[in-house]
Amino acid sequence: MQFTEEHKMFRSSVREMLAKNVEPHIDTWEEQGSFPAHQVFKEFAKLGLLGLEYDPAYGGEGADHWFTVIACEEFGRLPCNGVPIAYNVQANMATPSLHAHGSDQLKREYLAPAIAGEQICSIAVTEPDAGSDVAGIRTRAERDGADWLISGAKTYITNGVQGDWMCLLVRTSDEGGHRGMSQVVAPADSPGLTVSRSLKKLGNWCSDTAELTFDRVRVPVRNTIGEIGRGFQQQMEQFQTERISAVYQAVGQMETAIERTVDYLSERPAFGGKLIDNQYLQYNLAELACEVDSLKQYAYSCAELIVAGADVTRRTSSAKLLAGKLIRRVADTCLQYHGGMGYMAETWTSRFFRDSRLLSIGGGADEVMLRVLSRDVIGKTFFTDPKE
Ligand SMILES: Cc1cc2nc3c(=O)[nH]c(=O)nc-3n(C[C@H](O)[C@H](O)[C@H](O)COP(=O)(O)OP(=O)(O)OC[C@H]3O[C@@H](n4cnc5c(N)ncnc54)[C@H](O)[C@@H]3O)c2cc1C
Repeated sequence: MQFTEEHKMFRSSVREMLAKNVEPHIDTWEEQGSFPAHQVFKEFAKLGLLGLEYDPAYGGEGADHWFTVIACEEFGRLPCNGVPIAYNVQANMATPSLHAHGSDQLKREYLAPAIAGEQICSIAVTEPDAGSDVAGIRTRAERDGADWLISGAKTYITNGVQGDWMCLLVRTSDEGGHRGMSQVVAPADSPGLTVSRSLKKLGNWCSDTAELTFDRVRVPVRNTIGEIGRGFQQQMEQFQTERISAVYQAVGQMETAIERTVDYLSERPAFGGKLIDNQYLQYNLAELACEVDSLKQYAYSCAELIVAGADVTRRTSSAKLLAGKLIRRVADTCLQYHGGMGYMAETWTSRFFRDSRLLSIGGGADEVMLRVLSRDVIGKTFFTDPKE
């Protein structure tokens, strides 16, 4: 991919904005266990980051997909994943279905303020008894005249504590399995909707994570995104954006981690020279860099397919699987090469080690990616060109 001057200028602006508005506050926000999303997202909105590819009629930029790639890579360069994940949820996980399938009224009411950074949103799919198996969700919306009455529970919901609304996956009929689900925009201040717990986690400390309870929550039927009963299919489509944007971010994170580790080893004296003089360390870092670069080029091939409008399910599943496994090795190696300092709680290495573990679990675990991919392998269509 040859980035244009416009792309390059955009990259510099994002990097500068994050260096000014996010980076200096990360340690404090991590300590506090949250960050002021309403304040910070307004800064993101000034650069159009919350609606890069969305319709200008709703405040979007109408930009090409490469702007999303650049934004995610730049967020990945931050020395924490809490803010990047919160950003990604709003820009690439909770709003794509609304933009693609929502009514004009729904988009004006909820998408436009999300793009403007005035409202925070989340994606609520996972339940206490159903995560990997999305078809197992039980939160139920019963029709009551012009409203849905929603009862059930969702858990591990990023941005769910500070959020103003959520893209909620619910059952709207008794069909069971993949059928009879719908996506509904649920305002967080609806009576009966409560944050039952704000969850503490291994990593991503400054990103808030909620457990939500729904007790006959009344939401207008007109808040349904797209067709009633097509929620599962729409959510599967939305997962593709979620997964590939997480990969772009991971590439930014891994490149930065390797660069920072090389800087550290180049300064650290040992055995009459610097640690970087060890060929063993050089080779291991070179090998990881080679794998990160290969993943990056693979992710760029996914971006090209997205631009061409092709089905990227197989490619994004492969990229997400590879990224989840690779980032664990990169984080482990970078921490190891920082020695005792890398293990200290205040260093970026230990935070990276903790934060990066999520990639192999969230948005579809490694094994779920393998489940998707194995269908193509067994069906002998794995090596078919997605554009054919
Ligand atoms: C920090 C954090 C933030 C999150 N944010 C959100 C959010 O914003 N919105 C949201 O809806 N969800 C969110 N999640 C939930 C996340 O998507 C789920 O945790 C994930 O999909 C796995 O579901 P589960 O936890 O129920 O694990 P389970 O489904 O119980 O699976 C447990 C493990 O079993 C294995 N496994 C599962 N299925 C298979 C299979 N078919 N074959 C072989 N092995 C398998 C995997 O190793 C998996 O990790 C978040 C999770 C975390 C930890």
